[in-house]
Amino acid sequence: MSMRFDAVIVGAGAAGLFCAGVAAQRGLRVALIDHSEHLAEKIRISGGGRCNFTNLEADKPERFLSEDPRFARHALKTYRPERFIALLRSHGIGWHEKHRGQLFCDDSSERIIDMLRTECDRGGVHWMRPCVVHEVSRIEPLQVEHTADSPHAVPRFALRTDAGELVCASLVVATGGLSIPKIGASDWGFRLARQFGLQVITPRPALVPLTFTAQSWQPFAELSGLALEVELALPERPDAPRFREDLLFTHRGLSGPAILQGSSYWHAGEPIAMDLAPGRDLGRELMIARDGTRQQLGTALSAIVPRRLAQAWLADGEIAQILPATPGMPAVFERRIAELGNRALLALAARFKDWRVHPAGTEGWRKAEVTAGGIATPELDPRTLQAHRVPGLYCIGEVVDVTGWLGGYNFQWAWASAWCAAQALARP
Ligand SMILES: Cc1cc2nc3c(=O)[nH]c(=O)nc-3n(C[C@H](O)[C@H](O)[C@H](O)COP(=O)(O)OP(=O)(O)OC[C@H]3O[C@@H](n4cnc5c(N)ncnc54)[C@H](O)[C@@H]3O)c2cc1C
Repeated sequence: MSMRFDAVIVGAGAAGLFCAGVAAQRGLRVALIDHSEHLAEKIRISGGGRCNFTNLEADKPERFLSEDPRFARHALKTYRPERFIALLRSHGIGWHEKHRGQLFCDDSSERIIDMLRTECDRGGVHWMRPCVVHEVSRIEPLQVEHTADSPHAVPRFALRTDAGELVCASLVVATGGLSIPKIGASDWGFRLARQFGLQVITPRPALVPLTFTAQSWQPFAELSGLALEVELALPERPDAPRFREDLLFTHRGLSGPAILQGSSYWHAGEPIAMDLAPGRDLGRELMIARDGTRQQLGTALSAIVPRRLAQAWLADGEIAQILPATPGMPAVFERRIAELGNRALLALAARFKDWRVHPAGTEGWRKAEVTAGGIATPELDPRTLQAHRVPGLYCIGEVVDVTGWLGGYNFQWAWASAWCAAQALARP
C-alpha cells in the first residue's frame, strides 16, 4: 500500500523547506524528503553562521548568471526580499544590513532553520528524513484508483524510498547543487532531470577560490593572508561585470569577495585582470611624484598596496620587460622614480592597474559556495518552475541554471523560486 501525497519535495534545504511550508499552508498534503541526518546544513554554515538570507537588490536579474538571464525575473519580482523580511519579523528574528544590501541574522542562522521548520509544522508537512529515494517513475492517472471525492490531487509519480512507496501529483526537485559534498550535496536532481529528458547545463563550481600552479604562484605564496581592495575584470568576457571588492592571497592562489564573484564568470584557460590601484590615476601620480622627490619606486607603490605585495609584484619577471635589470643598477624596488622616463612609468602604472594572471583552476566543489549551470531554464515555466514536458515536475533553487552573485542572492532565488512553485502545485 503506497502513501499518497499531493506533493513530494525532495531536498529539505532552503528551497525545499520554504516550498513545503508554503504549499502545506495552502492545504496540500506534502511530504518533505532529505537523505541527510542534519537539517539544512547549508543554511547553518552560511554567512559565517549568520546566514546572509537576502539582498535588498536581489530583484535585479543582472545579478544572476544563467544561459537565459531573463528567466529568473518573474520569480524575483513576484517574491521580493521584503516578503521574506516580513516573515522573519513575524518570527521575531532580528537582522541587519552589512554591506551593499546584504542582510544577515543578528544572532544565528539556526533561527532561519527553526522558522522554516515551524512554518512546515504549521502546515502539517510529513517529514521523511533521513530517507533515500531509490527510484522515481511516472504513472498514468488511471493506474491509481481515483474518485471524485478523493482527498488528493490526481497522482502522476511513484517513488520507491527507504520508507516505502509514495505516490504524488507533484514532484518538486529541490536537491540543490554539488558544492560541499560532505554535508549532503548530490547530483540526484540532475540525474532525475535527465531521466525525464530535461537538458542539464554542465554544472561547474562557482563563488570559488582560484588556484595556480606551484611554480607560477611561488613569488606570491608567501603573501598568504594578505588582503586589499582591487577591481577585478575578466578580459576575455567583455559582458562580465567588474567587481570592486577585497582580494585575499592564499597559499595556493587567490580568494576573497572579488575572486569569488569573478570565479562565477571565469572559464578554464582564461586570464583574470586586477586593478591594484582602483579609482586612481597611477600614471599621473607617479609622474607628479617624480618631480621634486627622491622617492623609490617600491616605496611609492607601498603607499598604495601592502609593501610585501609591492615587493613581490616588482620582482615578477614581467616587470623586467619594462625595467630590465642592468649591472650596477639597484633592484627595481629601490630604483628612484626621478630616474625613470615617462614611458617606463606609464607602462608600469598600466601594468599595475591591469595585472593579469592565469589561474590553473579552482578549489573545486570542496570550497565552492554554489554551482553554476544546472537544469536548463528553457525546460521550465518561469512563472511556476514546472517542466514544460513533464506535467507535475517542478525544479527549484540551486538545482536550476540560475546562480546569484555573492551576498544573499542565492538564498533569495531559493525563496522566490520555491514560493512560485508552491503557489502552482496542484491542490486536491
Ligand atoms: C559555505 C557556504 C556559505 C553560503 N552562504 C550563503 C549566504 O550567506 N547567502 C546566500 O545567499 N547563499 C549562500 N550560500 C549558497 C546557499 O547556501 C545555496 O544557494 C542554497 O542553500 C540553495 O538552496 P537549495 O535549497 O537549492 O539547496 P540546499 O540548501 O543545498 O538544499 C539541498 C538539500 O537537498 C538534499 N539532498 C541532496 N541530494 C539529495 C538526495 N539524493 N536525496 C534527498 N535529499 C537530497 C541535501 O541534503 C540538502 O538538504 C552558501 C553556500 C555555502 C556552501
